[in-house]
Amino acid sequence: ETVNFNQFFNRIIDRFELSKSQHVTFHRMLSDTAYYVDIDTDKLTQVIDNIISNAMKYSPDGGNIRFGVAVKENMLTVMISDEGMGIPTENVNRIFDRFYRVDRARARSMGGTGLGLAIAREMIEAHGGSIWAESEEGQGTTIFFTLKVEMDEEGEWD
Ligand code: ATP
Ligand code: MG
Repeated sequence: ETVNFNQFFNRIIDRFELSKSQHVTFHRMLSDTAYYVDIDTDKLTQVIDNIISNAMKYSPDGGNIRFGVAVKENMLTVMISDEGMGIPTENVNRIFDRFYRVDRARARSMGGTGLGLAIAREMIEAHGGSIWAESEEGQGTTIFFTLKVEMDEEGEWD
C-alpha cells in the first residue's frame, strides 16, 4: 500500500501520545512534505510500535523522545531517539538478535521477550531497508531505519 509516510507516522505517534504516562515528552521533527512509501502498513506499524515502546520503557522521568524523518534522493530515514540508559557500544548491534536483552536483571524488571527488534529487522529488510542503532551509555539511544521513497508521476523523487 502506498502511503504518505509522515501522515502514517504521525498517526502512530498520536496513539502513543494519547495513552502515554506523563513521564516522557514527545517532540516531532517532521516536515509537511509528502513522501510516499510502498509498505505493508500493519507490519510497519508493528515495527514502529516496538521502537516507541522500547524508547518509553527505557526513558527516565522527564525524558524526551524525538521523532525525525530525513530524505535524501530516494531514501527515507526514520529516527526515534530517547534519553534513556543506553546500550554498551559492544552490544549495540546485538539488540537486533533474537532473544537478546542487554542484561538479565534489566530484562526481568522490564518484561518482554527480546523479539521485538529481531522482528523489526526482518520486516525492514523485507521492505528493502535497513535498521541500526546508535547509543551511548547513560545518554540515550537512537534507532534508525530506512525505506525507499516512491517516485511521483513526473519521475521525480518526491
Ligand atoms: P519485546 O520487544 O519482545 O517485548 P524487548 O523490548 O526486551 O522485548 P527488543 O525490543 O527486541 O526486546 O529489544 C532488545 C533489547 O534491546 C531490550 O531487551 C533492551 O535490553 C535493549 N533495548 C532496546 N531498545 C532500547 C532502548 N531504547 N534503550 C535501551 N535499551 C534498549
Ligand atoms: Mg521491545
